[in-house]
Amino acid sequence: MKQIGYLLLLVIVVFSCKKEKKEAKIVVPEKVEEEKAPPVLMEYGYVLNDFNVVKDTIRSGDSFGAIMDNHGITRAKVFEITNKIKDTFNVARIRAGKPYMLLKSKDTTEKAQVFVYQNNKIDYTVIDFRDSIIVSKKKKPVKLVEKTASGVINSSLMQTFDDLDLNFLVAYNMSDIYAWTIDFTRLQAGDRFKVMYTEKFIDDTIPAGIDQIKASYFEHRGKPIYAFRYQDDSINGGFDYFDEEANNLRRAFLRAPVKFSRISSRYNLRRRIKYYGNKIRPHRGTDFAAPIGTPILATADGIVTKSERRGGNGKYVKIRHNASYDTQYLHMSRQAVKAGQFVRQGDVIGYIGMTGNTSGPHVCYRFWKNGKEVDPFKQDLPASKPLADSLRPAFNNHIEPLKTTLDSILFEPKEIL
Ligand SMILES: [Zn+2]
Repeated sequence: MKQIGYLLLLVIVVFSCKKEKKEAKIVVPEKVEEEKAPPVLMEYGYVLNDFNVVKDTIRSGDSFGAIMDNHGITRAKVFEITNKIKDTFNVARIRAGKPYMLLKSKDTTEKAQVFVYQNNKIDYTVIDFRDSIIVSKKKKPVKLVEKTASGVINSSLMQTFDDLDLNFLVAYNMSDIYAWTIDFTRLQAGDRFKVMYTEKFIDDTIPAGIDQIKASYFEHRGKPIYAFRYQDDSINGGFDYFDEEANNLRRAFLRAPVKFSRISSRYNLRRRIKYYGNKIRPHRGTDFAAPIGTPILATADGIVTKSERRGGNGKYVKIRHNASYDTQYLHMSRQAVKAGQFVRQGDVIGYIGMTGNTSGPHVCYRFWKNGKEVDPFKQDLPASKPLADSLRPAFNNHIEPLKTTLDSILFEPKEIL
C-alpha cells in the first residue's frame, strides 16, 4: 500500500512538473542531467571534486595532531607524518588565523588524505599522505599589475592615501625612497606626488603587496624630486633610486635609526634640566622615542665595534663606518648584533628599551665625527655614489618613457587644466 502511495505521489509530481514546463514553454528536459554535473574545481593542484573538502582556519589551541584526529587519522599515523616531514615543515609552527584545507576520502571513512596549509598569501605547504608521505612547499602564481596614482596633500601622506583609497604600502615605500630628501613629518599642504608601481595579486583579485615602485615624483615646498628605480649593482643585483640626473637619492646615512618615531630630545649642548637644579647638562645625542621592542636600524654600513652593557648607556651598540664616522645606539632592551659583525644600512641591530639612565623607552642616537659627538642633523652627510658614468646612457634610455608617463599623470583630485 505504502509503495503504491509513493508511486502515485511521484506520478503527480512528474505530471505537475511537465505541466508547468509546458506552460512556461521551456524545452530542456533531456539535458537537465548534463547541466547539473558540477564543474571541475581545481585548487592547489588537486581536483576538489574527487574529495570531501574541508576549508577552515587554524584556531587558537588547535594542533596538527588534533585536526588530524578529528578527521580519522590515528596518532601513530600523525607521528609518522610529522616525523617524516619535520625537515621541511614543523607542524608545531602552525599559527592561529592561518587558513587550511583538508581533502578527505569520498568513501564512508572520510579519512583525511591531504593537508594544505597557507603559510601566507603566496606560500603554501602541501602534505599528501594518501600512500607515501609527501610534503611540498609551493607558491600561488602571482600576477603583477601596473598601476599609477597621484595626490595632493592636505595634512599627511597617510591621510591623503586614505582619502583617495590608495594602498598604504605605496606610501611606506615612497617614504623609504625619499627618506633622505624629504622629511615626511613636515610635509606642507599643497605638496603633491605621482607614482608608478606594480602591485601583486593572487587568484587574480586578492592583493598580495607591492612588487616595486618603478618611478615617482614628489613635489615638496614647490621643489620636484624624481625617483627612478635602477639596478646599479649588477654583481649583487642591487637597486637604488636616482633622480633624472642620475644622482643617488640615498645618503650614506639614514636620517633616523627608527622608522616612524618622533624626536623626543634633540642634540643640545646647553640643555638645562630642572631635576638637576636647572643646571646645564649637555645632551650629546638625539633621542628617538618609540615603543619598547621597536627595531633599531644601523644608519649606515659598517663594522660593529661594541655590543655591551655599561652604566648609564645601558645595553648599546657602536658601529664604525669609516675613518671619520661612528654611530652609537643606547638604552636597548636587547642587542641583535655582536662586536666584529658587518652590518648594512637598515639592518636591525637591536630593540628599543629602557636600560641605563632613561625615563622612558627611546634610543639615544650618538653621531661621532672624528672622535667627537656632533649633531647629525647639522652635518652635510656624504651622499651615496652617483650612478657610474658607464651606466648613464642605458639609464637615460630607461627613464625616458617612465618620465613621459609620470609627467602625463594628472593630480588627484583632478586638476582643472
Ligand atoms: Zn639621549
